[in-house]
Amino acid sequence: MSLLKRMIGLKPARTEWFCAEDAALDDGNYTGETIELTYLGTAGFVVKGRERTVVLDPYLSRPNLRRTFAAQLVPDAELTRRLIPHADDVLIGHAHYDHILDAPDLCRQTGARLIGSRSTVMVGRAAGLPEAQLVETAGREDIASGTWKVRGLPSRHGKLFGRIPFPGDIDFPPPWPPKMGDLKHGLVLNWLIDTGGVTIAHVDSADFINEELKGHRCDVLCLCAIGRKSRPNYTREVIDLLKPRWVVPCHWDTMITPIHEPPDLIPTVDIPGFLKEIRDAGAEPLFTPMLGRLRFAARACARPAT
Ligand SMILES: [Zn+2]
Repeated sequence: MSLLKRMIGLKPARTEWFCAEDAALDDGNYTGETIELTYLGTAGFVVKGRERTVVLDPYLSRPNLRRTFAAQLVPDAELTRRLIPHADDVLIGHAHYDHILDAPDLCRQTGARLIGSRSTVMVGRAAGLPEAQLVETAGREDIASGTWKVRGLPSRHGKLFGRIPFPGDIDFPPPWPPKMGDLKHGLVLNWLIDTGGVTIAHVDSADFINEELKGHRCDVLCLCAIGRKSRPNYTREVIDLLKPRWVVPCHWDTMITPIHEPPDLIPTVDIPGFLKEIRDAGAEPLFTPMLGRLRFAARACARPAT
């Protein structure tokens, strides 16, 4: 059965939210920097501090199923402008359309740098971003982002229905606007954002390389839900390695509903089961609605020395 038929064959389940919005996690007396995390749907997040805003994998346009499969994917620049009026850097985990489509408009409108693999940079070029806004990385290096540091860790793309969708690299600027298949995933990067207090890790596809994560830690882990069952011990191993206190599940809906409407869950993702896996592995899950915000304080994230 083709991937398209399998996707269409899914029966999305509408569901009620089962977690609170705007969870304030800082303690009342804290006067240091608070980091605000806004969930954008798919694997997208805005990480905002006092003086820095870093965006991960922005995908806001969310064309419907027919347009996603049949048509050119035309980004909705005005929607991006309204939802993310400011950004300093935009980090891309991999160059599939549902992770990168709105990144070029976001960079153009805010002046932010587009940071990611060679394939990511090719997408930036295709969309006409100037070279000064493109930062290519193969990972394993700290990149200064104001007073923050960001670092990509080489990773692998997860499997969907037993295979990796649209594999390979983008070696030349693709057509723009692109079709879904024009955007291969390229090098996959798990991102670490060190804000000086809170460290955030981002796993935007359900796989990772243990050796690359070893020796790194985070306070908050944004963790891809879709395809996680294809990777044995996915949840427990990534939590054992990065030791997050909190885990924010992402990439759990069908991606084809407008961002301001209730999303459709993919039934096979099994969110309650995922939340239990996270708890069983010793972290606290924070299931966050589309455009929901979470706040984290550095002192609350401090760990006793070991
Ligand atoms: Zn992907």
